[in-house]
Amino acid sequence: MIDPTYLPVRLLENNVLHAFVNANPGAQRLLQHAIERQLFRPEVDYVTDGNRVTYPSINVNTRIMRVQETHFAMLWAATYGLTVLYEVGVHQAKVDGNFTGDIDLTNPLFHHAELAIQWACSLRIRFSVWPEWLVTPAAESAVDLENRHALLTNGIASDAMASLMWHEFAHLAMGHSNPTNDPAVQQQLEQEADDFAFHALVPQHATEDERVLKGWALVMPFLAHLLSLKHPSAMRSTRHGDVDVRLSHVLSRFHFAAQANRDYFYGLAAVAVTAAMRRWSIDLPDVPDQSMEEFFNACLDRLDEVLER
Ligand SMILES: [Zn+2]
Repeated sequence: MIDPTYLPVRLLENNVLHAFVNANPGAQRLLQHAIERQLFRPEVDYVTDGNRVTYPSINVNTRIMRVQETHFAMLWAATYGLTVLYEVGVHQAKVDGNFTGDIDLTNPLFHHAELAIQWACSLRIRFSVWPEWLVTPAAESAVDLENRHALLTNGIASDAMASLMWHEFAHLAMGHSNPTNDPAVQQQLEQEADDFAFHALVPQHATEDERVLKGWALVMPFLAHLLSLKHPSAMRSTRHGDVDVRLSHVLSRFHFAAQANRDYFYGLAAVAVTAAMRRWSIDLPDVPDQSMEEFFNACLDRLDEVLER
């Protein structure tokens, strides 16, 4: 019998657990410490409930981390779509010198990538089965380029999920259990948990290459969330902190020395932010002679203006 809740990301369940437990030694030590103090149980509840997206959480009674397959599918599909659109449609096109400023969505590769992002976002509203046209993590029947991006996505999405699990673990380990009504304090707590997750995946003295390697995984949760918002006002959250502020913060943590690396990741964030702004009918700032970082910041300023109006 076919399981109606089945999503092919199930294939990667162990990759997620592996990515989580193989974090940096410092994070692992804190995890061990929390297990010894019985704050945390060393098992993960991988939930296949066939419901719309719920984010990872730790059950306060059982002390078990819960991650949900629908959410993992959302992360996977959004990552797949963005890697194709950005890596092939923007980055490679720029390298080849034929980037026109737009991505040709009549090209089936890009069309499917765009649809993958839309499907990912729809999972926050309601569950649906894996679309037939979307390559799967098994990457069996896909044409070469889709295949390659599916395999790339497997690694990024597993690490992205692990970073969210470390974020939740950080709230627990740092004793952030009492909800606060002060948005500034809450923002601070979210950033502390984000910093912890960052350092769980990126070693303290990581080389620039090692930081680049984890870049996608650490920004994807914010980009997927941002892309799925119906209205810009939803960026402001007293419970989870402002997603644009958290995205900016994580980008600044990388401290890339090479301008090319800064441009690459701010360019990636800008692609997601401008896609959201177009959907919200917000005018984009002028495309710059400036760096991608300045353009990205100009986009966030624009959003601030709109939200303050
Ligand atoms: Zn949090």
